[in-house]
Amino acid sequence: MIPPADSRRRRRREREIDMVKILIVEDEKPIADLLDMSLTAAGYSCDCLDNGAAAADAVELKRYDLILLDVMLPGIDGFELMEYLAPLGIPVIFITARNAVKDKIKGLRLGADDYIVKPFEIAELLARVETVLRRYHKTESRIAVDDVVVDTQSRVVTKAGETVQLTAKEYNLLVLFLQNKNIALFRETIYERVWENEYMGDSRTVDLHVQRLRKKLGWQERIAAVYKVGYRLEVEE
Ligand code: CA
Repeated sequence: MIPPADSRRRRRREREIDMVKILIVEDEKPIADLLDMSLTAAGYSCDCLDNGAAAADAVELKRYDLILLDVMLPGIDGFELMEYLAPLGIPVIFITARNAVKDKIKGLRLGADDYIVKPFEIAELLARVETVLRRYHKTESRIAVDDVVVDTQSRVVTKAGETVQLTAKEYNLLVLFLQNKNIALFRETIYERVWENEYMGDSRTVDLHVQRLRKKLGWQERIAAVYKVGYRLEVEE
């Protein structure tokens, strides 16, 4: 029998796959902590970084739904980072102590979605985050590829309108693929994200679940095997 604490933790981790992910780039630790705490309490999954270079690396490794970006950062500042982020299409809200009109205009011209001036009210922050996410349909709970539709709220998967029965692991595997369309995922990454355990080199578990998922969705071609790596969900975009 699984101890309750363990199963609670597992359920929380399973939910994290569906959670909206926010990257906080802020070098003032008390403010970063406040943002992290408030947004985590509101149900978002947050990562904090204190410089622009690390943030540029992070957005290549992980899919973020929103970035909260401080303007005054050591090294690459928020405006410079924004020029790098703009083509990626990730929504950005600038957070800064500088209340100068020209900074607001510059941030918005660079493609930021909104602007918050420190000190800010948590309620205002949450409202602005929600508005930007809604604008980008990041709160959308429906993901569709061909005739396969996944509702991440109800965790119901349908193919051509018919419900597909997936196990919890198969479901999490499917969501992981959908969040990483056209990206080759290492077996190790798949294992660690779906099973939440350290990968010990046994690929049969991953292979078996991929085979089951392919069969259930008719995705033999779509979930391609990548030699010496793992698998990739192939989607025309
Ligand atoms: Ca700063």
